[in-house]
Amino acid sequence: MNIAVCIKQVPGTTQVKINPETGTLMRDSVEAVVNPFDEYAIEEALRVRERMGGGLVKVITMGPPQAEVALRYAISLGADEAYLVTDRAFAGSDTWATSYTLARGIKAIGAVDLIICGKQAIDGDTAQVGPGVAEMLGLPFVAWVRKIEEVTEKSIRVQRLMDEGHDVVSMPLPGLITVVKEINTPRMASLRGKIKAKSAKIVTLNAEALSADKDKIGLTGSPTQVLRSFVPVRKSGGEKVSGEVSTLVTKIVSTVKELNVIK
Ligand SMILES: Cc1cc2nc3c(=O)[nH]c(=O)nc-3n(C[C@H](O)[C@H](O)[C@H](O)COP(=O)(O)OP(=O)(O)OC[C@H]3O[C@@H](n4cnc5c(N)ncnc54)[C@H](O)[C@@H]3O)c2cc1C
Repeated sequence: MNIAVCIKQVPGTTQVKINPETGTLMRDSVEAVVNPFDEYAIEEALRVRERMGGGLVKVITMGPPQAEVALRYAISLGADEAYLVTDRAFAGSDTWATSYTLARGIKAIGAVDLIICGKQAIDGDTAQVGPGVAEMLGLPFVAWVRKIEEVTEKSIRVQRLMDEGHDVVSMPLPGLITVVKEINTPRMASLRGKIKAKSAKIVTLNAEALSADKDKIGLTGSPTQVLRSFVPVRKSGGEKVSGEVSTLVTKIVSTVKELNVIK
């Protein structure tokens, strides 16, 4: 069984600054890591390959040239092939354009039976790209998978995490799942894996290689436009009250009434 895993390189910190002029994230100065949820996606792909007794795990990322590091990390864990979807024309892509571009990338890397994504990226946080890729490819998908109960060449049965408990869902393959952290415990890279990753071939795919429609990629191909990004001004001050409980309650109630919050 051939499995594609979508991985995203994200800042390894929440302290990323926003460029006040362009409103975009200033990623250059911060350490980048593989999106934590994608580590579970890689691990599950490796486990499915082992369970099925063979096949290829193909990792794919869309990002700047330095996202190659994320792919080498996946190779060190046991992935077989790595694809870097990169082109200046992809810059500024929103989730729709990202989904379109990744879908084109997956088409370009040869037939796959299963696509696995993380539940969400810890920087963008939208959780839209997995389902978006499935829609673009016309494939069925199940989001928030916490366990693969059964998988064959033709179908998969999974547990989908819900607010309370879980659903058991079957779907035909090829299809896409997004996974949550409950699904497994990711392995560590072995020394042999790390050595292999250093010299592994990374296939680069640009817009031309994907035969991507230029009206569907990058900033111009993105239906959503960020008008302004800013850090909210931190409010300080306020009024501290102290004293007996009954006095405090009276004071708080009168203050809330003054604010017109309750009648
Ligand atoms: C108008 C607009 C402009 C933007 N401009 C930029 C910009 O200039 N630069 C920029 O870096 N971001 C930009 N973004 C953010 C960018 O759209 C998102 O980072 C990207 O679409 C992924 O969305 P997400 O982070 O919410 O991923 P989610 O949907 O939360 O991710 C879910 C899963 O999808 C997969 N996935 C997501 N992204 C990728 C990827 N790139 N490669 C492989 N797999 C992936 C992973 O498996 C991940 O776990 C912009 C967004 C908007 C709306």
